[in-house]
Amino acid sequence: MNDGKIAAKTCTAIGAAGHILESYPVHQVNLGSLQVSRALPVRGRRLIGPWCFLDRFGPLTFQSGKPMDVAPHPHIGLQTVTWLLDGEIVHNDSLGCEVLARPGGVNVMTAGKGIAHTEQTPANNSGRLNGVQLWVALPDAHRHMDPAFESREQAPVLEQPGAFIQVFAGSLGRAPSPCRHYSEILGMDVQTHAGEETEVELNPRFEHAVLVLEGDCAMDGHSLEPALLHYLGTRRSSVCFRSREGSRVLLIGGPPFPETILMWWNFVARLPEEIGQARRDWEGHLRFGEVPSYQGRRLSAPSLIRFARPNPAS
Ligand code: MN
Repeated sequence: MNDGKIAAKTCTAIGAAGHILESYPVHQVNLGSLQVSRALPVRGRRLIGPWCFLDRFGPLTFQSGKPMDVAPHPHIGLQTVTWLLDGEIVHNDSLGCEVLARPGGVNVMTAGKGIAHTEQTPANNSGRLNGVQLWVALPDAHRHMDPAFESREQAPVLEQPGAFIQVFAGSLGRAPSPCRHYSEILGMDVQTHAGEETEVELNPRFEHAVLVLEGDCAMDGHSLEPALLHYLGTRRSSVCFRSREGSRVLLIGGPPFPETILMWWNFVARLPEEIGQARRDWEGHLRFGEVPSYQGRRLSAPSLIRFARPNPAS
């Protein structure tokens, strides 16, 4: 809480000065019919590099309906990054973009000064849903920019001994980032081969965290429990993964974010007044625009005097 009026939370980088291994429990959030494992912000309200939010959904199967159905809602001050392991999500926003997210591709929405969007399971679907949703805090110099949406059908792929790696944010080696970001950043999905070991190169200036998405995985000899976000600290030039049965590991990082951010509902800001203004603008149908393709009511902003959890798939 920053003051008595707006129940926003301040978040700062963990920014460990060396390599450590700390594990933070992921908590379950029930939002409608979709159960989400929320891994960020972790206890102590911390971010990992510029990554300030991480939801893990699925794996799940369904026969009918749409497990993902997030009505129109606003964002400011962040980028959303959608990475699917399986299934489909259709994104619509107030810029008029309609994009189908599929496994292997990456979608990045830059909210900047304000955008509204929906995320839904499309009518034509595989009956499966499995993926992650992340937010990236925009640095002060870029957080008031015009909103934008970027999509890549295929994130860069790297095959190396023991692993198949997909880099969905930032770069490993010289390959450019699939989509534009405004801080140094890394986001990758490391698929380790059964019974093999793989060494992943890291930038020692970055802090990193890993979340096991599937299978069993040990890192530098430590077994990585699922349902925990493992924070690795800084000053690591590489990390070694080994798996008995094969695994999929999400690895995120970036230089410790130099600014303290304020998070409330779907907004990332610096000052309580900015959050109050964004809320008033959403409720007054100003600034953010509409998502006319959505069949149903848009989300109403909660009261400012209680802490508002973000949407499941924000
Ligand atoms: Mn959203």
